[in-house]
Amino acid sequence: MFVAPLIERKRDGAALTAEEWSALIAAYAADRVPDYQMAALLMAVVFRGLERPELAALTDAMLASGQRLDFGDWPVPRVGKHSTGGVGDKVSLVLAPLVAACGVAVPLIAGRGLGHTGGTLDKLDAIPGFRTSLSLAETKQQVQRIGCALIGQTAEIAPADRRLYALRDVTGTVEALPLIAASIMSKKLAEGLSALVLDVTYGAGAFLPAAEQAIALARTMIGLGEDRGCPTTALLTAMDRPLGRACGNALETEEAILALRGEGPSDLMEVTYALGIEMLLAARVERTTAKARKRLENTLGSGLAAEKFEQIVEAQGGNPRIVDDPGVLPQAQVVEVYAARRTGVVARVEPRPIGRAIVAMGGGRARVEDSVDPSVGFVISVKPGSRVLDGEPIASVYARDASGAELGCDALTRAIVIEDRPGEAPLPLVSHRVTSAGVEQLSPVPGRGAKPAART
Ligand code: URA
Repeated sequence: MFVAPLIERKRDGAALTAEEWSALIAAYAADRVPDYQMAALLMAVVFRGLERPELAALTDAMLASGQRLDFGDWPVPRVGKHSTGGVGDKVSLVLAPLVAACGVAVPLIAGRGLGHTGGTLDKLDAIPGFRTSLSLAETKQQVQRIGCALIGQTAEIAPADRRLYALRDVTGTVEALPLIAASIMSKKLAEGLSALVLDVTYGAGAFLPAAEQAIALARTMIGLGEDRGCPTTALLTAMDRPLGRACGNALETEEAILALRGEGPSDLMEVTYALGIEMLLAARVERTTAKARKRLENTLGSGLAAEKFEQIVEAQGGNPRIVDDPGVLPQAQVVEVYAARRTGVVARVEPRPIGRAIVAMGGGRARVEDSVDPSVGFVISVKPGSRVLDGEPIASVYARDASGAELGCDALTRAIVIEDRPGEAPLPLVSHRVTSAGVEQLSPVPGRGAKPAART
């Protein structure tokens, strides 16, 4: 296949045809197009964007590169979930078993770390023995048996996304609305779902920081889902500071386990419950927000969600003891306590320096073939608005060695901004609900004079 003319056309702002996208993605998934040409084309898309028919064709071609889970006439509702990415975002690890324990099946195809953001797959890989590359048949059987499977893209399931995702991670081609939308929806549409709930992040740590961009992304993905018969809803959630306290693969898995045991940080739980409510409503197992919330809280409180996670870990070859003893997760060689550099109020906790430092410390990839050290990362105990004293311990760095710890401390100094007075109010954790009917603003967004509950 002659790829250079396609790259040149996209570079010059023209559209490729649906047939061209289809042939190109099929050839790439079959290893007949080299990474350097695909990287050049992706960069052209970053600058030139895609027209609507091109995005539809790209999504369909990525979906068609693999097979779909087909649950036939199995009557149990299946609801998917995906986040557009963040730092400290371990929601899927809590939400999938929690919703499955409420009687809704959750077949979840997750991604690896991407750019400065962490990936659910890398967090699962931190669990000794855990297998994320299940076959299509194994995935279906597990979902029907225990209600949930947590897997990655494989040669059978979303193979084009597997390759494109890894390539985008290391070529500066993540931050493009159509590429994010096609990547996410090609995975989700392969899950054989009755409905889909999307967590679209915004703020400094998100791929698309502005609320307007996040809304556009949500609407685009909802359109792709609904046009292909999958009812889709999105919540906009805050990513202007890390979610929860832990950032880094094993540390986040441990925090997710604590959350399943009822000891999760309040911000993580608020986002988890908001998405869980949408999933239970979409599955029609509950009719009102209040009842859905109660069911989620009761299921978590009774230990059923933690038990479901244990079942999933065991079914996928991992050590189920981690639920009782997260100490079996990989442990960092060096742990250094980080103290506040001055007295004052935390004005911001910037997510990007944190995410980039995790990659630099070995917890993410600089090249496609890099392996990841699951043990590195941070636990940050302050949030915007916290008052701190000079010398007070406010975070810990988990590193492979002394130089990693030093790099981590430098990143914290850049990320945790302490001032005399509080900074601008942080974004509301859950600010908008987007459906095919429109956008509902749930909380005002600071600095925007926005009114809650307006519909457009
Ligand atoms: N999550 C994905 O699966 N793909 C993206 O491109 C971004 C976030």
